[in-house]
Amino acid sequence: MYLYLKGGWIRDAQKLFDGIETMSLVTWNSMIAGHAQVMDLAGNDLSAYRSGYEALNIYLKLNRSGMKPDLFTFSSVLTVCSRLVALEQGEQIHAQTIKTGFLSDVVVGTALVNMYNKCGSIENASKAFVEMDTRTMISWTSMITGFSQQGWSQQALQLFEDMRLAGVRPNQITFVGVLSACSQAGMVNEALSYFKMMQKEYKIKPVMDHFACLIDMFVRLGQLNEAFDFIKKMDFEPSEFIWSLLIAGCRSHGNLELGFYAAEQLLELKPKDTETYVLLLNMYLSAGKWKDVSRVRKMMREEKLGKLQDWSWISIKDKVYSFKPNDKSHFHSGHIYKSLENLLHQAKSLGYVSLETLEVTDEDEEKTSSSTAYHSEKLAITFGLLSTPNTAPIRVTKSVFMCRDCHNFSKFISLLTAREIIIRDSKRLHKFVNGRCSCGDFGALL
Ligand SMILES: [Zn+2]
Ligand SMILES: [Zn+2]
Repeated sequence: MYLYLKGGWIRDAQKLFDGIETMSLVTWNSMIAGHAQVMDLAGNDLSAYRSGYEALNIYLKLNRSGMKPDLFTFSSVLTVCSRLVALEQGEQIHAQTIKTGFLSDVVVGTALVNMYNKCGSIENASKAFVEMDTRTMISWTSMITGFSQQGWSQQALQLFEDMRLAGVRPNQITFVGVLSACSQAGMVNEALSYFKMMQKEYKIKPVMDHFACLIDMFVRLGQLNEAFDFIKKMDFEPSEFIWSLLIAGCRSHGNLELGFYAAEQLLELKPKDTETYVLLLNMYLSAGKWKDVSRVRKMMREEKLGKLQDWSWISIKDKVYSFKPNDKSHFHSGHIYKSLENLLHQAKSLGYVSLETLEVTDEDEEKTSSSTAYHSEKLAITFGLLSTPNTAPIRVTKSVFMCRDCHNFSKFISLLTAREIIIRDSKRLHKFVNGRCSCGDFGALL
């Protein structure tokens, strides 16, 4: 079984595992870790989700067998919960760590803080963080990143100063959290001084993520030339994501000239990501540049890139429900569509205007624009609203980044229903509360 797990043959390993009569904790743990690893390798798609739930299932079986989990079990299942945005399961595991006395373990404590942060439950994360006896650099970093992702910039920066006072040395990832906190709050001077501190005081060389934070900040503030200057200053090739940020910024601030220039630079890299092409297609399409639209489409065919694999998942109790755009395959589809129509209608009366986005098809079809009304996250949110108690937050995971329309719609829905809506897409965490999103509205690139 270990051999199969090592080689990544999870099914064969599972078969042997199912046949073993008396199992040691090590065997249980390696099977859980095996599924968790498959989930990591699968990236952000449906199979990742399934492997994650398989890991949680084995954990449930372990509990039923009467055996006591240890710190390896806890840290693996908590990591799985963070990836799945499975807060309910995470809370149950939290309760168990208290019962079994593992809560005081630093590895388990850190995994808990991380899980709550990734699930968008900042209050619980910060409570778990405060309760830790000893804090490592990783737990500090996780909490700083958590605050910053939720748009709590002041708290993130305060915690960073506390961390320095406590004599803990920050690393590369800590600074990503710090810079992104400054970026979200538009604190240019602070961002630049932390950027300097990182290099001078801590001798940390800036990587792509640090530049992305700074460029994101300038773009949010509409300082596109400053953003572009920073890109030119980087001593390595800017990534697809960096160009995408600049292009999205040019689009929303109406500087198309720079946008087109950035697009040319980006196309020279021969991007590998379908999302990048969709962004470009949207830009050319809204500017009416048909020649460029067909040029980009041709490149996509040459790079053999298909449609966007748009999926959204929501877990309710112990089950996962997945949605594709325009999905009608659910048992309750009729009901879901009816209430979605209703929500769209109510949102419109509050001022919501739906936006069209582009759907990329493999063929040379003329149809370039399609309705965004039934995008996967809209269906998942609606299903979540129907299937959970009135005050429960809605947590959705999405395989690609959100489009502007769904982003806008989610803001209205959080206002209409007075529910928290948390969506983790392929690039960011969005937490919608009372009509506002934690990403400061700059997370929806399409
Ligand atoms: Zn959408
Ligand atoms: Zn957002």
